[in-house]
Amino acid sequence: MQTHDIRQRFLDHFIKAGHTEVPSASLILDDPNLLFVNAGMVPFKPYFLGEQTPPFDRATSVQKCVRTLDIDEVGITTRHNTFFQMAGNFSFGDYFKREAIGFAWTLLTNSVADGGYGIEADKLWPTVYLDDDEAEAIWRDEIGVPAERIQRRGLKDNYWSMGVPGPCGPCSEIFYDRGPAYGEEGGPEADEDRYIEIWNLVFMQNVRGPGGGKDGYEILGPLPKKNIDTGMGIERVACILQGVDNVYETDLCKPIIDLAARLTGRAYGAGNHDDDVRFRVIADHARTATLLIGDGVLPGNDGRGYVLRRLLRRVVRSVRLLGADQPTMGDFINLVVDTMSPSYPNLAEQRTHIVDVAIGEEASFSKTLAAGSKLFADAAQATKASENTTISGDDAFTLHDTYGFPIDLTLEMAAEAGLSVDQQGFTALMAEQKQRAKADATARKTGHADLSVYREFLDRGPTTFTGFDELVSEAKV
Ligand code: ATP
Ligand code: MG
Ligand code: MG
Ligand code: MG
Repeated sequence: MQTHDIRQRFLDHFIKAGHTEVPSASLILDDPNLLFVNAGMVPFKPYFLGEQTPPFDRATSVQKCVRTLDIDEVGITTRHNTFFQMAGNFSFGDYFKREAIGFAWTLLTNSVADGGYGIEADKLWPTVYLDDDEAEAIWRDEIGVPAERIQRRGLKDNYWSMGVPGPCGPCSEIFYDRGPAYGEEGGPEADEDRYIEIWNLVFMQNVRGPGGGKDGYEILGPLPKKNIDTGMGIERVACILQGVDNVYETDLCKPIIDLAARLTGRAYGAGNHDDDVRFRVIADHARTATLLIGDGVLPGNDGRGYVLRRLLRRVVRSVRLLGADQPTMGDFINLVVDTMSPSYPNLAEQRTHIVDVAIGEEASFSKTLAAGSKLFADAAQATKASENTTISGDDAFTLHDTYGFPIDLTLEMAAEAGLSVDQQGFTALMAEQKQRAKADATARKTGHADLSVYREFLDRGPTTFTGFDELVSEAKV
């Protein structure tokens, strides 16, 4: 079943059950705590928090999501994209656990002729929160899942909360057993590669607020109106229904891998693990970059712009490491626009802009690479020659300061060479530089020296990657 069909069946299933279809919001919302929309419920937050009254009791959407937190998993696990589509159904004080579980189960297991995905029931493993007897009873007694396929999990996996004070509640997740080729038996508790998580059902039933818990908060009591928030990963379901190994080989991603193989002359899946990871990184990041530019992000030195810059640069490096030197970005971006615009028509409308931005970054990064790669190679060689495994903070600083190598590029290149980097030393030098810049600025103000020629460098500022921190703080609320 093609991705487009999977999306449409989801929406049809819930529209039929009285839900209003809400189009995906932009990846960029006006929320200072959130770098990118990272879940289907984000645009509905004001309803869940009681700040606005929803115009419907039930809604369904397929929301564009970006999770930079997952960037290091990309291409290595079989299931983490930086961009993915989260399909969801939402109840605002309307139906609750029983219906939410029933809706999910029928969509997954109904036959294809009947509008479902036709997944075999005995491949599905639900989890419930430690004390959620109610959800377990529904799964076991009403849906008929054998007790041994229902696992109970703790706070980290099966409890969800939003803001404080704010709604919270247990969740129930649905995993699909990919079989012994993918790992150990024993359910999701034992192995989350073999048992791939496809759907999370959140039961918002309580309010959390200041109290005596470990983090200074506790559950204060039940919400006046209970809500449902669910999220199903479209790419993960596509991976299962298309019988492919991972989320990068589905109908919308595999063409990018194939194109990368043609452009680099290397084969995918030919037994070289590192190469295969690079192919998957290209497929993932080219997609995310295209969608981000389509939603108004431009490459920059911090925040969202830096995430985009990093994604584009990782595409360029992966292509290089696969052995191609010529520019390829335009081909990748055009292909993503072709494959994704049936769902997101704004991409086709903005094709020229998106391609131009991505190509511009490719060109400037190619210059950076050309300038700094020799110094990096020398530093790596000197490190090895002195039987060391750590590139000095000095070298990392010079690469940053003189050649524009962001520290994560140096870290990545070092890791590829089997080396680490003295990050403490690097950070100390950065701090010193900041101090010097401050002192210079003061001197300039007081007329002690004319340093205006350095202004441009100062304006550029240090390239600190704040993306993870911002996302981490979002994940914590
Ligand atoms: P995992 O444990 O596999 O990282 P998660 O628990 O972080 O997933 P949720 O936050 O519960 O995921 O999101 C709801 C659904 O969205 C998941 O069940 C999954 O199907 C999908 N999903 C989450 N993260 C990703 C991702 N990085 N790439 C593709 N799909 C994802
Ligand atoms: Mg996750
Ligand atoms: Mg999970
Ligand atoms: Mg989950």
